[in-house]
This record gives sequence, C-alpha cells and structure tokens, in this order.
Amino acid sequence: MVILRLAIIAAVLWFAFRVVKRLLSSGTSRDIRLRDGGKMVNCAVCDVYLPECEAKALGDGKFQCKMH
Ligand SMILES: [Zn+2]
Repeated sequence: MVILRLAIIAAVLWFAFRVVKRLLSSGTSRDIRLRDGGKMVNCAVCDVYLPECEAKALGDGKFQCKMH
C-alpha cells in the first residue's frame, strides 16, 4: 500500500500548496473584489476598506477615504 500512501501525501501537499498560495496572494494584493464587480480599495491613511467609487484617488494606486 505504498502507492496509496504516496497518493495521500501528494494530495495533502497539493492542498497545502494551494492554501499557502492563496494566503500569499491575498496578503500581497491590497484590494478585494465585491460580488457585483465593484472594487474595494483601502485608505492610505487609516487603512479602512471602502468602495472605489467612494474613495478619493491619490494616484500611484493609492486612495483616501472621505475622512481626510
Ligand atoms: Zn482614511
């Protein structure tokens, strides 16, 4: 039953790889997508997430909320 054990190990490694990859990609990208296709951005000053349409663009991919 060596083959079965190897298959299980491979499946676990593949799953772990996917989880790590997802964690890394969510850690590096600073925006998240809404279900309706709207984009969420975070304020460069207070780090609060808000819809891009409500944020003030600073250029350079940065945004500010209305509080500043
Ligand atoms: Zn802010």
